[in-house]
Amino acid sequence: MIPPSFTYRRASSVDEALDLAAELGEDAKFLAGGHSLLPLMKLRFAAPEYLIDLGRITELSYVRDEGTYVAIGALTRHHDVNTSALLAAEIPLLAHAAGQVGDPQIRHRGTIGGSVAHADAASDLPAVLLALDATFVIRGGSGTRSVPAAEFFKGIFETALEPGELLTEIQVPKPASPNAWSFQKFTKRAIDWAIVGVAVQSDKVALVNMGHTPLRASAVEAALASGASVADAAEHAAEGTGAGSDIHASAAFREHLARVLVRRALEESRSRG
Ligand SMILES: Cc1cc2nc3c(=O)[nH]c(=O)nc-3n(C[C@H](O)[C@H](O)[C@H](O)COP(=O)(O)OP(=O)(O)OC[C@H]3O[C@@H](n4cnc5c(N)ncnc54)[C@H](O)[C@@H]3O)c2cc1C
Repeated sequence: MIPPSFTYRRASSVDEALDLAAELGEDAKFLAGGHSLLPLMKLRFAAPEYLIDLGRITELSYVRDEGTYVAIGALTRHHDVNTSALLAAEIPLLAHAAGQVGDPQIRHRGTIGGSVAHADAASDLPAVLLALDATFVIRGGSGTRSVPAAEFFKGIFETALEPGELLTEIQVPKPASPNAWSFQKFTKRAIDWAIVGVAVQSDKVALVNMGHTPLRASAVEAALASGASVADAAEHAAEGTGAGSDIHASAAFREHLARVLVRRALEESRSRG
């Protein structure tokens, strides 16, 4: 399918991208890897008049050690997150999960910032970053602000980003026990989106595709904090969630999967950490 026609503009710096966004207004959208936006345009779910291509902004592609946290530029490709030696050592959950996104072609084009900004509850990295208590750095016409992951995902494909604002960096605190992680992704085929997914870092648990946004499994975390066993805590995995039914799974099956996958994830993270 062919997307509706649009005017293509290319930014070569963050400042230029922000200037273009201010000039073109709400009819413009940023284009990063294009692996979520272009399919939506082909299906006519999105029809921006202008695309501002961020792909040549090399200043936003990096993985840096900042002491207590790792800073990742928004345009860093999934492949580069997956193969980062720094992330493998300090935040292996994130490195591993980036390697579970789609297939190699998608991982070489898609960006971590695009995945976060798109905010699909079925995406892997938003839930992983929620479990890791990441912070998102946003630049706009009025300056720079930082938003914790817990406050960033607002609703279906809706985030704290205002029109014209650019997500520039993802800051991920280094976990005290980096090896206490697990990522469980239940799919029909290896390259598919998760029917349900679970990210665990120590006793922090987040869910993929169990509601309108990525979710923390708060009832599981509370049970663990009050001394429940892994098996008992995992029974709370579907509490406070809003799983939907579709051609892949019913809501009841998703809730069952959440309980099973949370138990597996907690067991695996404890055996590693
Ligand atoms: C066949 C297929 C399979 C996939 N499988 C998976 C999967 O298993 N798991 C998974 O998690 N994902 C999957 N994806 C999605 C993939 O990870 C996308 O690459 C990602 O979700 C979006 O990143 P992108 O860089 O391509 O963003 P784009 O498509 O370029 O942009 C997405 C949205 O974010 C906005 N945006 C992008 N960058 C910024 C920024 N820096 N600041 C502000 N707004 C921005 C854009 O304007 C647009 O609205 C799949 C995609 C395809 C096509």
